[in-house]
Amino acid sequence: MNEKNSDCTRRRFLTTAASGLVSAGLAGLAPGISFAQEAKAVADDRKKEIIYRQLGKEGMKVPIVSMGAMNSSNPGIIQASYELGVRHFDTAANYQYGRNEQMVGNVLKKMGVRDKANIGTKVYIPEQRVDDPKAARKKIVELCEGSLMRLKTDYVDILYIHSVSDPADVDDPGIRDAFADLKEQKKIRHSGLATHGRMAEVINEATRVGFYDIILTSFNFTMADDAAMMGALDNAAKNGISIIAMKTQAGGQRLPNPESLRNYSSSTIATAALKWVMRNENIATSIPGYDNFEHMKEDFSVASDLEFTPDEKKFLSDNDVKLSMGFCRQCEQCLVSCPNNADIPTLMRTHMYAAQYANFHHARMTLDEIPKQAGLLACKSCNSCLAQCVHSVDIARRIDELKLMYA
Ligand code: SF4
Repeated sequence: MNEKNSDCTRRRFLTTAASGLVSAGLAGLAPGISFAQEAKAVADDRKKEIIYRQLGKEGMKVPIVSMGAMNSSNPGIIQASYELGVRHFDTAANYQYGRNEQMVGNVLKKMGVRDKANIGTKVYIPEQRVDDPKAARKKIVELCEGSLMRLKTDYVDILYIHSVSDPADVDDPGIRDAFADLKEQKKIRHSGLATHGRMAEVINEATRVGFYDIILTSFNFTMADDAAMMGALDNAAKNGISIIAMKTQAGGQRLPNPESLRNYSSSTIATAALKWVMRNENIATSIPGYDNFEHMKEDFSVASDLEFTPDEKKFLSDNDVKLSMGFCRQCEQCLVSCPNNADIPTLMRTHMYAAQYANFHHARMTLDEIPKQAGLLACKSCNSCLAQCVHSVDIARRIDELKLMYA
């Protein structure tokens, strides 16, 4: 890795980390440990310099670990993240019905650091699937302006089209025109596309189309054997598209439910997974969705250390682990197994938000986006999907759990 940047010296880090701990109210958290000891421990964890990579075409360089704000509703974590060194914050118009954007915008404005931090946000237009480019263009511009208002800023660094999982939706004249309008008005710096379904196909199509600057995609170690995905990332990077990785910890391994994960600490699972992603130099940065100070520190430690520990190596080479993860890749291959046309991939994503992220708000919203005839009640518990998933996702159990929560 040769991207080391001398921007953050150890001395400077001590200062920033110390102020972050104070402002985040962390001082004296652990009984018997003084603030100075805590600050030293954090600094010792981060003896190495932060690794930066280029993000987009306008010269932005950001640490390889950024923040996915989706799961957080604590402004203190946004502030502490900035003070720790995070420079890119990911949010979306529909996270917490806009309150997530408000929180990120408020904190950065109050700190007076808007010009030093990058913001990525997303607009969701199911209408893009309707062949009405004029309406899509108008809607995207309106949604972006709503985001700018909530974020208390004149521009965002990246505006994504949210949740594209069909390659046919990538080359949309409405999106293209809206991005051109917004760039001309200097309301967005980069046009982006976010995908967590059929990712390789969507990324390849976005690369072919050529008007997206940045792609945000699910990417984690459960995809290590996915040659199509690896090829798509390579192809996009070679064509000058910056890639940001999400779902880097395969759906929240900090809740190690499956038995085989009990052999590893939650910290090992989190850092091993994140290092695996960021050792791929096609990835510009990652947006782990931490929601507490401990996870923030664990995740950001990876920004300055991509070397695996023996435990992390063991975790990543453990054959039982990948099987027990049950990470749904949203490949849609199971769809044909359901005689009632339930939208299994979206139900699996809903389950991940509820059971692994504990983000019940986002789970509810995702569930509500499924057309009624394909939603939870479309599932008649016939078990036709049992053992249908090539990636070992236990579909029927997860749908049963969702029914207990939401039906
Ligand atoms: S449940 Fe399995 S087959 Fe269905 S979308 Fe997810 S990974 Fe693909």
